[in-house]
Amino acid sequence: LTRGFRQARNRLAGLTELTAGNIDAALREVRLSLLEADVEIGVVKAFLARVKEAAVGRTLETRVKHAGEVHQVSASDHFIKICHDELEAMMTHEGDEIAWADSGPTGIMMVGLQGSGKTTSCAKLSRYLEKQGKKPLLVAADMQRPAAVEQLKVLGESLKIPVFNIPGESPVAICAAARGEAKRLGRDVIIYDTAGRLAIDEPLMQELAQIKDATKPENVFLVVDAMIGQDAVKTARGFNERLSIGGVVLTKLDGDARGGAALSIKEVTGAPVLFTGIGETTDKFEPFRADGMASRILGMGDVVGLMQDFEEVVDQKKAEKDAARMLQGDFTLEDFLDQVRMIQKMGSLKDLVDKLPLGGMFPGGLPQDVNLDDRELVRIEAIIQSMTRLEKSDPYALVREPKRVERIAKGSGSKPEAVSELVQKFLFMRQMMSGLGQNMGLMGKIPGMK
Ligand code: GDP
Ligand code: MG
Repeated sequence: LTRGFRQARNRLAGLTELTAGNIDAALREVRLSLLEADVEIGVVKAFLARVKEAAVGRTLETRVKHAGEVHQVSASDHFIKICHDELEAMMTHEGDEIAWADSGPTGIMMVGLQGSGKTTSCAKLSRYLEKQGKKPLLVAADMQRPAAVEQLKVLGESLKIPVFNIPGESPVAICAAARGEAKRLGRDVIIYDTAGRLAIDEPLMQELAQIKDATKPENVFLVVDAMIGQDAVKTARGFNERLSIGGVVLTKLDGDARGGAALSIKEVTGAPVLFTGIGETTDKFEPFRADGMASRILGMGDVVGLMQDFEEVVDQKKAEKDAARMLQGDFTLEDFLDQVRMIQKMGSLKDLVDKLPLGGMFPGGLPQDVNLDDRELVRIEAIIQSMTRLEKSDPYALVREPKRVERIAKGSGSKPEAVSELVQKFLFMRQMMSGLGQNMGLMGKIPGMK
């Protein structure tokens, strides 16, 4: 019995707070995770400080229910969930992805390094917008590489979306003329595909700034290859300083990049990731989802998934108090009903043994005599609810006066034998509990009892 009691006590003594101690261990885990995901070190530090502040002193549950199963969770699991939620909050973007023009066609200028996926993303975006009832016009303004215009034309043809270009003209002149073309063709969105470089340089920035001046687009989107990792921050900073980008398209997320760039870019430029490229074909394009990206960056999908459906199963503090009271022999039918309800909440009787104070006292499971069939639970609840207050506080009244049993049976739609059996079980359990309490000289030994 002593062993059982100690177990019960251990179970009751679950962590209920995040302390500086358990946070530091968890902080290290998360820090590593973020660095591996290519989040910039400065961003990592700022993020962890923010998380620490949010986490310290937070009250915790030690058990969560996920997909119908009850799991034991640690303080660091909670911590990681907090990290996940903070990450998500930091990347979440409120409102429309695209800023629409009050009148006339809406301009979307796509910029980025060479090979980042601009041309592909222009086509993907035009397809995405057309599906939403828009009439996009693609503008091929990368005159750097001869193949670039052809590439966009091929994509446009496959999507049956017009592509505008003036051979031999400058990118600025082409873009400036695109508005007239859009009006002529009745198009309401203009997507400008611009030139890139292997690295940011002044001539490129000048050309892009001129295009921006000439077209005054409602949106400047930076296209970033998720695979470039840490360099994404430098790139984003450079483009943002000259062009003040409004949003980001993060491409090649179908690869194994962890996507830390999404967080770094948002932190450094303030521009949210709005869309993601997840493949080479034009259908592989999706609005950005911050929660999915948070899990991807943390790389602890299992923990996060477990905590996602966080559901309070046992109120730890109340359980402790109840245990103390019950072990003193102060166990009422109301308590019994409470326990029954808790069993139902937890889904399976098996869990009772682990979760409840009284369960912890029986390492081998509840004694057969006290064991309850899962199907019986609903009936038990009905029976107890059909009792008067007197009967609940003095169950012996039911033993003395069989008429009461009959009335309760009728009221709860069960057989009189079922009512008697319940009372016997209850009395047996109460006896066991007070016996346990006395055997252990429990004053002062039970958490929650001073
Ligand atoms: P640009 O130089 O910025 O215009 O880049 P491109 O649009 O020409 O794309 C460069 C390469 O990346 C091409 O081979 C594309 O097929 C590929 N690409 C673009 N976006 C994605 C993506 O989301 N996933 C994958 N796997 N490849 C992509
Ligand atoms: Mg291109």
